[in-house]
Amino acid sequence: MNIHEYQAKQLLKGYGAPVAEGVAIFSADEAEAAAKSLPGPLYVVKSQIHAGGRGKGKFTELGPDAKGGVRLAFSVEEAVAHAKEMLGNTLVTAQTGEAGKQVNRLYIEDGADIERELYLSLLVDRSTGKVAFVASTEGGMDIEAVAEHTPEKILTLPIDPATGVTDADADKLASSLELAGKSADQAKGVFKLLYKAFVEKDMSLLEINPFIVMKNGDVRVLDAKVSFDGNALFRHPDVVELRDLTEEDEKEIEASKWDLAYVALDGNIGCMVNGAGLAMATMDIIKLYGAEPANFLDVGGGASKEKVTAAFKIITADPAVKGILVNIFGGIMRCDVIAEGVIAAVKDVGLNVPLVVRLEGTRVAEGKKIIDESGLNVISADDLDDAAQKIVAAVNG
Ligand code: ADP
Ligand code: MG
Repeated sequence: MNIHEYQAKQLLKGYGAPVAEGVAIFSADEAEAAAKSLPGPLYVVKSQIHAGGRGKGKFTELGPDAKGGVRLAFSVEEAVAHAKEMLGNTLVTAQTGEAGKQVNRLYIEDGADIERELYLSLLVDRSTGKVAFVASTEGGMDIEAVAEHTPEKILTLPIDPATGVTDADADKLASSLELAGKSADQAKGVFKLLYKAFVEKDMSLLEINPFIVMKNGDVRVLDAKVSFDGNALFRHPDVVELRDLTEEDEKEIEASKWDLAYVALDGNIGCMVNGAGLAMATMDIIKLYGAEPANFLDVGGGASKEKVTAAFKIITADPAVKGILVNIFGGIMRCDVIAEGVIAAVKDVGLNVPLVVRLEGTRVAEGKKIIDESGLNVISADDLDDAAQKIVAAVNG
């Protein structure tokens, strides 16, 4: 689960992080009071969407010469003018995809006098099984490009969970960021508090780009992107409250209501599978035969008929889906329950694309019989290989 920059800054401020003063607004009427509450003379008006690259982004409705999604303003009036122009429009950035995202919230923030822009993040490093810092002097820009062209400018530092961030770790990070004096002293405190926040709140990513040094030597968290581990949200009701459903895929929201493990993807073959491993294998084999899956969907072990129906509806609601592959290995899950769910869903929402069903395992004969006697135009398959070839052939005409 992701949150907005202003929410992330609020959360980190609670841990003692240095962040600028700022006010989040939802309508242009609030802009003047928000800007007036800040010290000035420099204000920054920042689009709040769940995507980075906002500064270099473009508003679809405003033409190629308009300014981007993060704008400097040198007076309250200018800040208000920016807010009026930005709110309600669609911002396209390198991370939003072509469709872009509508800007419904802005953050008006005190402007910083920037000396240097650095990069600092925390993530779960799967190779070491630890939380690791990633630090670079090349902040404010695309870190993927830095990793590709000048990887020597990036330090990855895994943290021992038994000790947390040690003084030696903090020294290493500060020196790799070429920090000295009071900037280094402040930054070392920030490293420790960021690690504490990351672990306590079960984050999966915490990215500060840029982490800045100001002209007066103070450091500041200037941008903040935070993702949380969805499996740990049950113990963070305060985090769940920050969820902005308008930023999430509707199909994924519906799936989460039914406790279905669903991820929307870019292809055109909808998949309904039981078990995460089998779901992954099903996506792989679809790719092997030259097509792309439209989603990952694991209906789980003991799914009810209602849950299967909901899953099927989510798949068919996606206009990109040109064919559906149901692949069930009934162990705990019974094939006849799946068959009933599929039939109920088809009767409810109709079926306008080819459907291939492969059933195996518990009560497979009953399941196949239900499908055969349904009168529906279902292509049945015997094994995974056969099923994948049949759905790819059906979709490709
Ligand atoms: P994004 O990464 O989505 O483009 P950032 O928050 O990183 O958004 O802002 C982009 C750039 O705008 C920053 O690298 C920085 O140069 C400038 N900027 C952002 N916030 C401020 C601020 N409060 N004061 C001064 N400059 C800012
Ligand atoms: Mg940024």
